[in-house]
Amino acid sequence: MFKGVFFDLDGTLLPLDLAELMNSYFRALAVKLSPYVEPRLFLSALMAGVEQMLANDGRGTNEEVFRAEFAWRLERGMEELQPIFDDFYLNEYRELGRGIEPRPEARQAVELAFGAGAQVVLATNPVFPRLAVKARLEWAGLADCPFAAITSYENSRYCKPNPGYYRDLLESLGLHGPDCLMVGNDTREDLAAAELGFCTFLLEDFLLDRGSLHEPTWRGSWEELLKVLGG
Ligand SMILES: [Mg+2]
Repeated sequence: MFKGVFFDLDGTLLPLDLAELMNSYFRALAVKLSPYVEPRLFLSALMAGVEQMLANDGRGTNEEVFRAEFAWRLERGMEELQPIFDDFYLNEYRELGRGIEPRPEARQAVELAFGAGAQVVLATNPVFPRLAVKARLEWAGLADCPFAAITSYENSRYCKPNPGYYRDLLESLGLHGPDCLMVGNDTREDLAAAELGFCTFLLEDFLLDRGSLHEPTWRGSWEELLKVLGG
């Protein structure tokens, strides 16, 4: 069995179309910050910050890289805005998840992995703050799971599909790629784990096929995933 089982969150454990969420998320955040920053300037600074994170080569945490770009674009420090961001993630952001029904199979899959003695990792692309990841875990009905690691922009210095993202995680957990499984819905971001020798499972419910150098070890529905996990 696998010593490490890594799960993507958006479109995998959490049944949602990420592109739709991002639209309402960014709009709501722009509204929240509108007393302080003109919304169009805010959105362009936000996008530039996200691009910098996606290109992060390990020179700092994703948060540091984001903040440097964001603050530079807005010509102001983050000190004044940070409490407003935090308040957003504790309030407005949580409302965005209304109506999302957790998938019982997601919990089954996570419990099977824990039951087999694996280290279970929430390997969500670390472009969001911890508070935002926690809110989405609540929407997925998995906030109580004792994950060995949860990636967020504070604790990561690469983004998927950079293999450095997976390498850092393996190192911090004392794991080796060939002993691990990565489960995700995105051919580009999640199958990149194969570069470190991971087995991969491409979950097709919210499939994002953006091309990949790697074929998944397995692909299919929840039913097939549960079989791979020994259920
Ligand atoms: Mg995904």
